[in-house]
Amino acid sequence: MLPRLLSIPLCLCLASLAITPSAVASDPHATSKAPKKAATHSKAKTHSADPHGGAVHWGYEGAGGPENWAKLDPANALCATGQQQSPIDVRTTYALALDPLVFQYRPTKLSVLNNGHTIQHGVDPGSFLEVGGDRYQLLQFHFHTPSEEAVGGKRYPMVAHLVHKNDAGQLAVVAVFLTQGTASNPLFDVLWEKLPAEHNVSMRFEDKTYTPSDILPRDQRYWTLMGSLTTPPCSEGVRWFILKTPVAISKKQLAKFQHEFSMNARPIQPLYQRAILDGQ
Ligand SMILES: [Zn+2]
Repeated sequence: MLPRLLSIPLCLCLASLAITPSAVASDPHATSKAPKKAATHSKAKTHSADPHGGAVHWGYEGAGGPENWAKLDPANALCATGQQQSPIDVRTTYALALDPLVFQYRPTKLSVLNNGHTIQHGVDPGSFLEVGGDRYQLLQFHFHTPSEEAVGGKRYPMVAHLVHKNDAGQLAVVAVFLTQGTASNPLFDVLWEKLPAEHNVSMRFEDKTYTPSDILPRDQRYWTLMGSLTTPPCSEGVRWFILKTPVAISKKQLAKFQHEFSMNARPIQPLYQRAILDGQ
């Protein structure tokens, strides 16, 4: 069964096709479609995807803050009632022999979107994550500060969420912690060179290519559990892989993102009956 989320942006995107050449779902975990223009640098205005008719929009503080997400829209009920919600704090884990993550990522053109909640990079088709015979296509990745997931109660300065989907519509998200190092990370110089100031305007650079696997640490051991989107509508059934090893970016690079988004992390959610599995 498709997670409820998937049907919502799809409907909105179809509705917007009549007025825009392309559409990008506003949710950071939803599929994005970048414009396919040949121009060196193209922009595409997208709909704001506000299902609340201009009422309070969700965010990370105040009336639209996480404690109120479920009240903003009945579609967000799981944000309050779900028992498989993300993010979580990795504390007690259970050792188990787990399949390795096999990343088959290919070079992609740079496509950047500021959806008002995060910076999101759309990825061209053809990059896959394989784990234990399951295959998921990489759709997009985006960032949170501080990291949404915690380890032993400690959050990292940032996290990258790499969002994948399989043919059955099920999502798998790989979380990569970002920590502050001394050197500038060359990949992030490319990713964040030009951050769109305008919301929901996708910028695609035909002359800039990178490989998403450059965001991954060399040691790809992970914790895993079932969880949810960390943004409304908090849909469950999302398979989470939290890489243990952080990746370093510079203080200046951290500051660049945090200048745009000072805080975009959902609070830690209860585990309830879930177990966090540890491959090593
Ligand atoms: Zn995320």
